[in-house]
Amino acid sequence: MIMNNIIVISAPSGTGKTTIINHLLDKFKELEFSVSATSRAPRPNEINGKHYYFISQEEFKKRVEQNEFIEWEEVYDGTMYGTPASEVSRICGLKKVALLDLDVFGALNFKSKFKNAFLIFVLPPSLEVLRERLEKRGSESPEAIDRRIEKAKEELTHALQFDYMLLNDELDEAQCEIEHTVSNFLHNKIVPDTFRIVE
Ligand code: ADP
Ligand code: 5GP
Repeated sequence: MIMNNIIVISAPSGTGKTTIINHLLDKFKELEFSVSATSRAPRPNEINGKHYYFISQEEFKKRVEQNEFIEWEEVYDGTMYGTPASEVSRICGLKKVALLDLDVFGALNFKSKFKNAFLIFVLPPSLEVLRERLEKRGSESPEAIDRRIEKAKEELTHALQFDYMLLNDELDEAQCEIEHTVSNFLHNKIVPDTFRIVE
């Protein structure tokens, strides 16, 4: 039997991906978050090794040359993010299911190497609502919010390349739907090569 052991979640920034990932980690003890490396500075509440491995840009480039990442992207100007191969092997070694938070292009690149990965795209109800969520979160400057909205327009054009699309309008409903879908995936009710639901 093919094991379903990698789930990748992507969404335009501000859609609610982190909120949904935290909910899934709470609900499913068999899931383990795959910690990415990044060259960006930590936000006040972020812990090295838990949210990200925070490294310098120089160190990041060195690790790229040493082939340490399964995929990596310069997601925003000058800021790199990558999935360390060691992280995915660590989680597989624990016999757990890896839950990855990747940007849209990183997710598609990841899938080209790991065909069994289940790719979920979280959709915002609209670009206006997306902007409101970013403004309410308050972690980016108005200019950075404009850049993220511009990027979101391009990211949304790739949603159909994902295995599953989740609309995050009412949070309760979105969480309920994703719980059901992930449960099906974990119980091998979603066949990785076709993503049919088998009852
Ligand atoms: P992302 O990880 O995709 O950038 P976050 O999880 O940080 O997004 O969510 C962005 C903001 O929107 C946060 O303030 C979060 O509390 C809020 N949020 C998430 N989902 C919803 C929702 N369904 N309705 C309203 N606000 C939401
Ligand atoms: P943030 O700076 O808000 O934490 O994340 C910015 C973006 O980087 C998000 O879209 C997130 O999904 C993406 N990201 C985080 N880790 C990785 C990674 O390892 N690889 C790629 N390609 N994107 C990542």
